Amino acid sequence: LSVWSAVPAGPPDPILGVTEAFKADKDPRKINLGVGAYRDENGKPYVLPSVQKAEELVNSSKPDKEYLPITGLGEFTQRAALLAYGADSVPLNQKAISVTQSISGTGALRIGGAFLARHYPNSKVIYLPTPTWGNHIPLFQDSGLEVRGYRYFDKSTVGLDFEGLKADLLAAPEGAVVLLHACAHNPTGIDPTPEQWATISDIVKERKLFPFFDMAYQGFASGSTDRDAHAVRLFVKEGHQVAVAQSFAKNMGLYGERVGAFSLTTSSPEEKARVDSQLKIIIRPMYSNPPCHGARIANAILGNEALYTQWTGEVKGMADRIISMREKLYNTLTHDLKTPGEWGHIKSQIGMFSFTGLTAPQTKVLAEKAHIYMTSNGRISMAGLNGSNVEYFAESVNAAVI
Ligand code: PLP
Repeated sequence: LSVWSAVPAGPPDPILGVTEAFKADKDPRKINLGVGAYRDENGKPYVLPSVQKAEELVNSSKPDKEYLPITGLGEFTQRAALLAYGADSVPLNQKAISVTQSISGTGALRIGGAFLARHYPNSKVIYLPTPTWGNHIPLFQDSGLEVRGYRYFDKSTVGLDFEGLKADLLAAPEGAVVLLHACAHNPTGIDPTPEQWATISDIVKERKLFPFFDMAYQGFASGSTDRDAHAVRLFVKEGHQVAVAQSFAKNMGLYGERVGAFSLTTSSPEEKARVDSQLKIIIRPMYSNPPCHGARIANAILGNEALYTQWTGEVKGMADRIISMREKLYNTLTHDLKTPGEWGHIKSQIGMFSFTGLTAPQTKVLAEKAHIYMTSNGRISMAGLNGSNVEYFAESVNAAVI
């Protein structure tokens, strides 16, 4: 008998299942709207030209392959913190931000979860929006925190359930941790307005909650890295201490290079040094130190004025292409096809994803009849649409809902 004979089979990953069904489909019209990675106008993965140039710069300097420090490439993490917090950030200028490189956004969240579980002196409960990125739940549970939900999505308006959100955060135990998507909420594509962020900041203050920002899409939502950092910078300005998980997967297209950063604001350089020492103690037994190549690429972009300018233009290009697909889809549904229902949310939602409001049976019909694949909650990746398939998609949605 094998030692593993009692290991039960786990359920398949819901998003990978979509990709498998898509791959098996031989119809030339097929579309994959499940994947959370940017696609260009031809439906192909996109390596940013600024990233190609940065990689050439890195390679031409013939860097060695020595280990990085436990907290990664120091120049890169300083520049990542600057990108997130902004040049006029008080804790940044006081040298009171503790920051470490991470295995992309997921690794940043996991380091943060572990740090809170070990050192956060108050409640070990973390509140996640309902719904949220599916991986948040097991990630924070495995970090040793108790996971609870706060209301976020209103099915009837396909918008933010702001009353529910406020009520749930007001009812949270004092000192609980609250996970906030800094911008481009996944999976709904619905973000609070600046006024709503200010109210959330007040509630977080009143209930003494600890804000943990997941910023996986900085620049990708609006096209501006500054505008997308609004919530993080507002909270810091309002005097909150924050934790921030950053990913360079989407905004630099560095998905498989696994480049990210985790940071905490502290009250002084001395406190920062103590926090740094504990981050190292958490990271060392997990993976010792992070990979160097992707961090060197991101560092070359963030540290070179010409490349940085080129990169921000390319981020805007990706965001703008997605926004133009939202407009095209909305116009085709409402004006050309007169599809029944209210589709304004397609245009008002932001970032990579749109919660279409399509039901699970409708998504099944779309897969079987039209060869269009998405998760059964009706979430589509807008990046999967382009000039050659958006009309076919709209016609198929029209047929599925009438
Ligand atoms: N957080 C959110 C909300 C995401 O959507 C993702 C990726 O889809 C991540 C974090 C982490 O991505 P990565 O680990 O590739 O940076």
